[in-house]
Amino acid sequence: MRQVTRTVPAPADLGIEVLRVPEGSPVEFDLRLEAVMEGVLVTGTAHAGLEGECGRCLEPITDPQSNQVEVRFQELFVYPEHAISEEDDEVSTLENDLIDLEPLLRDAVVLALPFQPLCSDDCPGLCPECGVRLAEQPEHTHGEPVDPRWAGLAALQQDPDAAP
Ligand SMILES: [Zn+2]
Ligand SMILES: [Zn+2]
Repeated sequence: MRQVTRTVPAPADLGIEVLRVPEGSPVEFDLRLEAVMEGVLVTGTAHAGLEGECGRCLEPITDPQSNQVEVRFQELFVYPEHAISEEDDEVSTLENDLIDLEPLLRDAVVLALPFQPLCSDDCPGLCPECGVRLAEQPEHTHGEPVDPRWAGLAALQQDPDAAP
């Protein structure tokens, strides 16, 4: 058994569209390699920084809870001579005694990322009318929302915000 820590530059397109590990940024692996009959069992974690935008307000995500990811994985990498007998080609194999962690890392990272990243858990998002960031202007209002069926009537009234 061997314990390995290694930092490698992130490959391109690691993550999802709205949240990803910047290409070339450090990915820290903490791995345990165990020799077993059929190959090498790899257990470990990977840690990386993320960049992305809030799904509600589009601000860059800077919250330390959300702008990094740590994933755990475990995979058996079998020796090629053992892989041949396996009918599915999903099995990971050792190639020239090397393990390729990239597919593993990709799957684990994508699974770990939130579907909709947020700058903070309670981000109020953007004003649907004017697009202002509501976290910065919580008191922001355009008056009562107008039922579309009454929009024609509302247009006849004076703008309440402009009233003295
Ligand atoms: Zn936000
Ligand atoms: Zn507004």
